[in-house]
Amino acid sequence: MAEVLPEYVGRLAPSPTGALHLGNVRTFMVAWLRARQAGGRIIMRMEDLDHPKDKPGADRAAIEDLKWLGFDWDEEYVQSRRKDRYRAALEKLQAQDLVYPCVCTRKDVLAAQSAPHAGEQLFYPGTCREKRLEWTDKACWRFKTPPASRVEFEDAFAGRYVQDVAEKLGDFPLARDRFGAGYTLAVVVDDAEMGVSEVVRGDDLLPATPAHILLQRALGLPTPVYCHVPLLVGPDGKRLAKRHGDSRICRYREEGVKPEAILGRLAYWSGWIKEERPVSLKGLLDAFDLAKTPHTPCIVS
Ligand code: GLU
Repeated sequence: MAEVLPEYVGRLAPSPTGALHLGNVRTFMVAWLRARQAGGRIIMRMEDLDHPKDKPGADRAAIEDLKWLGFDWDEEYVQSRRKDRYRAALEKLQAQDLVYPCVCTRKDVLAAQSAPHAGEQLFYPGTCREKRLEWTDKACWRFKTPPASRVEFEDAFAGRYVQDVAEKLGDFPLARDRFGAGYTLAVVVDDAEMGVSEVVRGDDLLPATPAHILLQRALGLPTPVYCHVPLLVGPDGKRLAKRHGDSRICRYREEGVKPEAILGRLAYWSGWIKEERPVSLKGLLDAFDLAKTPHTPCIVS
């Protein structure tokens, strides 16, 4: 009897914190091409829970830019309309006594670091764990990471990844919202509820993934396959940002650049085509090969 393979479900998960730029698009190309090559479905999920950083109108603009580039998807969700789901997950964790409110400031957390830290991944030693604090607007929910929380998984691009979450992150934050509407809880709940089989995203999130896996286990949710791809960086080796020049898609649109020219350049940089030429997303379906993608960060000059 023929084996029935599980359906591939991928996702595009933009945050409306600014305009879509070349860096986001490269990651979305990998996500789209992986899903369509597998004959699978794609979910568009707007991750709009980051209120201080979210920009009004950036959600609509990102969708317009993606459509202009030739992206399509099969289902659309908006996280701010799904808060009841995150609340239910938070309540499940509360019932197991796995979360607590923490009122430490970023400064307090920084002061508690024993080793130099890279990026956003700060270690939290659990200062507020035993205090049994009431929720306040300045608090965040933290997960009670059990001692010796070693997580190991095989990333489809980055390979084997091992982290002891208790050692590396300690009690990691879940949400800054009283009812749990924050990135970490939402991403785990949504990927499971939406049936996402593979998560393709930038490798800045690789060090956060073991925490996501611990949370999935605590909530009884499945772990998808992860595929973390390198970010685009500027000539200084730092993550592509405004200071490297304007790589916003809307700017290229205004200048009359064609979507195929943008996609062709990104495909060439990514090693999927041998020379730079205009190409559509569908036109890349044969050429795209995750294995050809360089493991070093892709430099935009
Ligand atoms: N919304 C996040 C971002 O745009 C991506 C999160 C994820 O893929 O899990 O950076």
